[in-house]
Parts: sequence; C-alpha cells; structure tokens
Amino acid sequence: MRIDLHTHSRASDGTDTPAGLVHAAAAAGLDVVALTDHDTADGWAEAAEEATRVGIELVPGMEISTVHRGRAVHLLAYFPDPAYPPLAAELARILVGRAARVPTMVDRLNRLGVDITEDDVRLAAAGAAASGRPHVADALVTLGVVPDRTAAFDRYLGWGRPAHVDRYATPLEVAIRAVAGAGGVSVIAHPWGRGGPGGPDEATFAALQELGLAGLEVDHQDHDADARGQLRAIARNLDLVVTGSSDYHGVGKTDHDLGCNTTAPEEYERLTSARATGTSGAPHPG
Ligand SMILES: [Zn+2]
Ligand SMILES: [Zn+2]
Repeated sequence: MRIDLHTHSRASDGTDTPAGLVHAAAAAGLDVVALTDHDTADGWAEAAEEATRVGIELVPGMEISTVHRGRAVHLLAYFPDPAYPPLAAELARILVGRAARVPTMVDRLNRLGVDITEDDVRLAAAGAAASGRPHVADALVTLGVVPDRTAAFDRYLGWGRPAHVDRYATPLEVAIRAVAGAGGVSVIAHPWGRGGPGGPDEATFAALQELGLAGLEVDHQDHDADARGQLRAIARNLDLVVTGSSDYHGVGKTDHDLGCNTTAPEEYERLTSARATGTSGAPHPG
C-alpha cells in the first residue's frame, strides 16, 4: 500500500490538472493520494471523479499558509469542510492577500528593469484559484528572464530578494483550531524544511498538539537524514502521527516525484482515526 499525502495541481501552483494529477498518481503505483493545493479546495471535485475512475483513494486536503512567531509555516489539513465559516473566512483572506501581492511584485520587477505585466502573470496562472508568486515566477520563465522557477525565487521573489512582497497568513494556532472545527486533521508540512534550525521545537509541537495538531510531515525532500531522525524521535515522544510525501508540483518543482516519500499504512490509519474520533482538538460542529 503506497500513500502520498501532499501534492499540488493547477488549482494552486502545480502544473497538472487535478484529474491529470490523480491519473499520474495511479500510474506511479500509488494507492492513496492527497490533493493539497495551497489554501483551496477547488481541485477536489475533479480529482475525486478521476480517483473513482482509476480506482485509487483520494484524500481531500489543502496546505494552509500560516505564520508562527514571525515564521511562515505550512499546515496540511486533511478532510476539512472548506465551507466551515471560520476556515472559509481564513482561506478567503489568504487568497485575497495573495492576489493583491501580484501588482506590487510586478511593479517592483518593472523598477528593477524587468519587462513583465500583470497579464503575463494572469496567463501563467490560468486555472488557479488565485494568481500568486509561483505564477510570477512562471511568467518570468516564459519571458526568458530566468531559466526556471527556482532561479526566479533566488534572484527576485524569495524572502529578502528585491521583488519579495509580504502577504497575509493565518496565525498557526487559529488555523489548527479552524481545521479541527471543520472536522479535519492537521499535520505540519516540512516543519524544518526551509531555514532548518529555528523551526518549531518539541515544546512548540507539544503546545500545538494541545490545540489539535495531529502529526508531522517527517519524510519530505527538504529534510535531510538528520532532520528526519530528530523529527521522528519528537513525533514518537509526543505520539504524533508521522507522514511522508512528495510535495509533487508536476514539472513546477524538480526532485519531488509522486511517491518519492510515502506514509506508512499504520500512520495513515492513525490519521484517519484521529479525524473519526475527533481526538484532534475541537469537536466537529453538528
Ligand atoms: Zn509547503
Ligand atoms: Zn506543498
């Protein structure tokens, strides 16, 4: 049983359609795949239809943009009801903030002498719930300014780079509570992925667990063997679920092939039962 709990489609910044992604997941030999686009459930219906057709299990999920102590933290939410008002309100704020950032980024790039327009970005974002930074990166690639998305982030759009613009993110505690209230379970994505040391420590994870955090994404390409070992030990101490996933973005991100990391069936079982029993925090409404 092969389980991949973190992938992106064109509903956010991946390059496959939701159906195409599910098709690719089946072809890659996966039995279970979670669609976890950034801050949106827009791809779920199309992905679910294809999952039924090809006979694999689809986990409806999303990766929520949150902030904790001034640091960006990505929170994976599985099975939440996206219409649950506190969650829906946060997702709307994030999407509005992301779209509002594009004109500012385009303006900064223009000042840096880069010839790019908002239309170029809109074209790159076709099919996405909102245009955002990865689409600005894709437009820069299309325009021949940089060779690939990574170079666009390294030179212009990444944190501390000249065209970087801040945007709204949900406080992590608020997001964990909203996901639990929406009947979902939360897992922190690549907790030590970017920046390594300085990421949340065991005491922090324990405090977040009190709010409803169910697990940690330990096996992720951004973690080396040492980080994986330490995170696995923390998860064991705290009795948090350990997940592993690809963070697949189609051709939008290299070295993140479907199934390159997977989640053990018994860990997946614990995740789904945390949802069923509501042990992941606040009770489900109704
Ligand atoms: Zn992420
Ligand atoms: Zn991701």
